[in-house]
Amino acid sequence: MATAVASPKLLPEVERFLGSAPLQGVVGGKDVAGSTGETMATLDPGTGEPIAEFCVLSAADVDRAVKTAAEAFKKSGWATMAPNERGATLHRLADAVAKHHKAIAQIEALDAGKILAHAEGDVQNFIDTLRYFTDMAQHVQRRNVLAVAGHEAWTVRHPWGPCGFIFPWNFPFLLLGWGVAPALAAGNTVVVKPAEDTPLSTIYLARLAREVGIPDGVINVIPGTGAGAGAALSGHPGIRRMSFTGSPEVGRLVGEACGRNLTPVKLELGGKGAAVVFDDVDVAATAEKLVGAITFHTGQVCCDATRWLVHESIAKDFLAECRRKMEAVHVGYQLDDGSRMGPVVNAKQRARVLSYLEKGTKQGAEPVVAGGPAEVPGKNGFYVKPAILRGKLDNVAAREEIFGPVAFVATFKSEDEAVSMANDTDYGLANSVWTGDLGRAARVAESMVAGNSWINAHNLFPRGVPYGGVNKSGMGGGVNSIETLFDYWRSQSVVRPL
Ligand code: NAD
Repeated sequence: MATAVASPKLLPEVERFLGSAPLQGVVGGKDVAGSTGETMATLDPGTGEPIAEFCVLSAADVDRAVKTAAEAFKKSGWATMAPNERGATLHRLADAVAKHHKAIAQIEALDAGKILAHAEGDVQNFIDTLRYFTDMAQHVQRRNVLAVAGHEAWTVRHPWGPCGFIFPWNFPFLLLGWGVAPALAAGNTVVVKPAEDTPLSTIYLARLAREVGIPDGVINVIPGTGAGAGAALSGHPGIRRMSFTGSPEVGRLVGEACGRNLTPVKLELGGKGAAVVFDDVDVAATAEKLVGAITFHTGQVCCDATRWLVHESIAKDFLAECRRKMEAVHVGYQLDDGSRMGPVVNAKQRARVLSYLEKGTKQGAEPVVAGGPAEVPGKNGFYVKPAILRGKLDNVAAREEIFGPVAFVATFKSEDEAVSMANDTDYGLANSVWTGDLGRAARVAESMVAGNSWINAHNLFPRGVPYGGVNKSGMGGGVNSIETLFDYWRSQSVVRPL
């Protein structure tokens, strides 16, 4: 019988941080409790126990935060600072994150239910992203002379002003980096609303920013609910550019609110990505990678390979390999060595995953790996087992985003059929194609309608390659490349007749 394992102790620095609860927002460099005095608890998904209380900021607090960010944009010197000076300050922030790497990773793992090694990777990703945009902002050309008849003309790029960010709970710290690093490097000020399930690492970062001398009001953090702080931020007329990462349902609300104010908005939304597997692959290696992808962060990954479209001639062998590999995935507490898949983020998400298994099988899908609730000895967290369903693509589990460790398998006979199956979705975030024939790989990769296509791998984010979604998966730009940096400068034309 499995027995409970003693989990590693929290670092003293993490204990101190959690001990300062209720954790407040940060506005204008000061801790802010919020005008209503309301607090909420954030839970450890691995135990179901509260970790810490945090302050819930209201619409009035958000208004103050946006005005503070606008004031800091005008008066703190951040926007007008020489790029190398701003760069030095942001590198100090990256250094501080690196110094507190282990503590932030522990906080993140605890709050989001992330396997500790993955949380450590997310913190490193934040550091690398911040340094990447910081360096780029010092070197790109912001002034372009234009050759036009009879005029002297040029364009110049300026930061927008206060930029709003709303983030989801699946990659709180990594997405914070992807979002705010280009905005800050470009000289904007930011107001950030973290998800109510995972506010801790964002609050921690705002405190570090204060310590390294980022001017007050440049980074403001407003923990709170979606309907409260989130709606107030996205609907605030003082925000000059908005970025939202989350579900298409809330993305629509944010897009509508920004539309009313004519605020440019970037939406990074959900997905229902396909992996198209041809008959010339190494079956065992491909099964290993796809099982790895769907179980990574317990399948709570927007661009995951959730629909596995497999050539019918290898389907039997491929599924047998996948079953063997999936059944070997060790579900456990996220801070324990040896755990390969942790919990989902909360009870609601667990119920959602289980309900899709039920609805999918009711609609005729065959469970290749049944999934269902998972027990972890000594932990009363939100655990599920990974699953594979097989059936037709009109099944609800093949059409809707589950956001859990559930893959849906369907088979194809020809390349054309595979591409049309991959494109039979409202989403358009990321797909992959798996084959030894690189000509076919390129053809299929370019034919799948989405922001991103990957070849013989899934979940690739090298910095410098734009990452964004189309259709129901997003609009208005992407992340992680020079294009993202340019999103955070408005372009202005200057003309003089000769
Ligand atoms: P969600 O849309 O429920 O919440 C996201 C954020 O929006 C949270 O901070 C929430 O508080 C806030 N919010 C909720 N209601 C709001 C409102 N009315 N106005 C303004 N803000 C509001 O999403 P989630 O459940 O936290 O995250 C999962 C979703 O995020 C999935 O669909 C996933 O695919 C998507 N996602 C996309 C990407 C990407 O890069 N495309 C990355 C990560 C997650």
